[in-house]
Amino acid sequence: MRPTLSIHTLGCPKNQVDSERLQRLFTAEGFNITDLPDHSDVMLINTCGFIEAAKQESIDEILQLASLKTNSKRLLVFGCLSQRYKDELIKEIPEIDAIFGVAEEPAIVEYCKGVESHNIQPLIGQLRPPPYAYLKIAEGCNRGCRFCAIPSIRGRFRSAEFGRIIEEAKTHLKEGKKELIVVAQDVLSYGMDTGQTLITLIETLAALDGDFWIRLMYLYPTSISEPLIECIKGHDKVLNYLDIPIQHSEEGILRAMGRAGSRGLLLDLFDKIRSKLPDVCLGTTLMAGFPGESASDFKALLSFVEAVKFDRLGVFSYSDEEGTPAFNMTKKVTRKTALKRLDELMTLQAAISYEKNRALIGRQFRGLIDDSSGGTRLARLYSHAPEVDGCVVVENCPGNLNAEDFITIEITDAQEYDLRGKILS
Ligand code: SF4
Repeated sequence: MRPTLSIHTLGCPKNQVDSERLQRLFTAEGFNITDLPDHSDVMLINTCGFIEAAKQESIDEILQLASLKTNSKRLLVFGCLSQRYKDELIKEIPEIDAIFGVAEEPAIVEYCKGVESHNIQPLIGQLRPPPYAYLKIAEGCNRGCRFCAIPSIRGRFRSAEFGRIIEEAKTHLKEGKKELIVVAQDVLSYGMDTGQTLITLIETLAALDGDFWIRLMYLYPTSISEPLIECIKGHDKVLNYLDIPIQHSEEGILRAMGRAGSRGLLLDLFDKIRSKLPDVCLGTTLMAGFPGESASDFKALLSFVEAVKFDRLGVFSYSDEEGTPAFNMTKKVTRKTALKRLDELMTLQAAISYEKNRALIGRQFRGLIDDSSGGTRLARLYSHAPEVDGCVVVENCPGNLNAEDFITIEITDAQEYDLRGKILS
């Protein structure tokens, strides 16, 4: 009998996809999977090593699992953090029995085949699987942002095979998923190494049978083309939601970061997108405190955010990552200043977000029920990506509605990040 396994996943949706793929391999090999680590023979953890806070979270979670260890239970660590710090982790956390980096799924499966089973009955928790699935269309990145450790962890950009992505999408839809979320470190480079195009991929996905949403994430700003905007506009299934991490608005900082674009170019881009897709939900990610960011650069960034009024905004503070070019840069901004700037950006965005949400009161939208546990239903609109954005708390929901159902909602109240609504149908 095969041992029972639990897989705990940290980090971004790309890691989530890796864990799901590994889980499918395990299932095909006859392993039992549980979501309760203390009911497993092998506790697997898929780690994140992107920035300081993520590294710390991964270490805390490894230690938490280590505290559940018994003589017969194994702890296996894999993913980005262990790719970067294999030797250090083995040395510092002796409870780890096996450690693997990224893209080592076959070796992980082989290791688990060699673990003795203790006939643990796989208990499955009560959580319903979410109505969305991530579709990872590529791995790695060639962009070379100077603060980013991803290219050294995940390697050069490689597109996933076109047919395999479509098959994966069909499987998710067959399983009842209502939203496919297209992810990669660099979604817009899809096909650069295979002769395919992202537009063909989106069109093929949109032509699949069924009532479902397609959401695109992680779009590099200067690679957003007119035909891509037209493609989004031309397909109802493709949501008017564009997640475009820009990191900064000022050219000097963007160049120092090793990124393309400028304030003027970005303003033009967002204007163009809004004129073509009037209801678009525009999101971005910024970095506060990159080396060399002066007080006036930061002031300019604040005025840029004020001018664009993003619908969604996330902010990271710069963190020194070994092995990245930024690590050796001079003119570092102090941690205290970086955090203060992060705070200022988030305060500004909270006011923008509140104002935008209030403007939605009385409007009607299509929503997807995400969570139907307890008495309240939570739904997301096209403008809410799961796990990162807010949601709508839906009142007066009939008991027979479940996660995976589409409903029509009228917005009745709004806070900075979440909305309230009543169901119309
Ligand atoms: S685009 Fe830049 S930040 Fe994003 S993964 Fe590539 S190198 Fe890192």
